[in-house]
Amino acid sequence: VTASVSGTGLRDRLLGARILLPTSSAGVYGYGRDFVRTFDAVDRFVNQAGSVDLPELMRFPAVMSRSDLERTDYLRSFPDLLGAISAFTGDNESHAELLMNLDAAHDWSHVFGPTELVLVPAACYPIYGTIEGRLPPEGRLFEVLGTCFRHEPSADPGRMVMFHQHEFVKLSTADGALAFRDYWLERAHGLMSGLGLEVESVVANDPFFGRAGRMLAANQRDEALKFEIVAPINDREHGTAIVSCNWHRDHLTSRFGIDSADGEVANSACVGFGIERIVLALFAAHGLNLEDWPSDVRVALDL
Ligand SMILES: [Zn+2]
Repeated sequence: VTASVSGTGLRDRLLGARILLPTSSAGVYGYGRDFVRTFDAVDRFVNQAGSVDLPELMRFPAVMSRSDLERTDYLRSFPDLLGAISAFTGDNESHAELLMNLDAAHDWSHVFGPTELVLVPAACYPIYGTIEGRLPPEGRLFEVLGTCFRHEPSADPGRMVMFHQHEFVKLSTADGALAFRDYWLERAHGLMSGLGLEVESVVANDPFFGRAGRMLAANQRDEALKFEIVAPINDREHGTAIVSCNWHRDHLTSRFGIDSADGEVANSACVGFGIERIVLALFAAHGLNLEDWPSDVRVALDL
């Protein structure tokens, strides 16, 4: 029988086994050997599954321009999660002030000012700014592995502040985008349960900020725009989202001026695999020792 680890003890057991490595920031970890091996295996597994549809491959750095981010409306919905990059642009005088504060162990951040860069909050966002012209009749399909930042420091290893999303993104007509979302909802469920995870598909909503945000969240749920595939990581009762399947309608495409072949504003949909969370769900389900994992899971992941 494989030891199943969950609850608040999972974090401590992963740290104890050097699968996760501690840092001085909540929600920030280093990855030890077995985390890296599993991360690479899961990422390869996801990539192979999506490659059959011949997506266009794209990669972006973990930063994007403020102006592109503004077009996504992220600031209206999730101001509390965004990370904006500041940098030192001062003169000798402010450097002296910085050093004085540093030596006195005082806060030095006030001599840093805003830059044009923010941290990418969702792996698919940087794609939209690269699309030019009308889409072909069949739409376009992209594959992207991105590093995402969300400022929600937590002791729950399932809620890291920086993590990787492996996404497949469809830009097409409304029908095409919805069909893509539904195709992946079923497919991703099968892929994850094939790894021995106790998964469930649930209608979900994004964590919109504030009073107006509660309305947006309710609408998103009512219209079933977002589904999540959840699996046990820390909370056996509710599960944690390991994959999300989203139909954005024309929310992003309209702001980036992307039209489908029929001349209408295009729609978009994406499926995002949270690689770290899938890795954590695997450790929670199969135990901390990779050699003890069920052989069909190890074969599927080529571990
Ligand atoms: Zn996405």
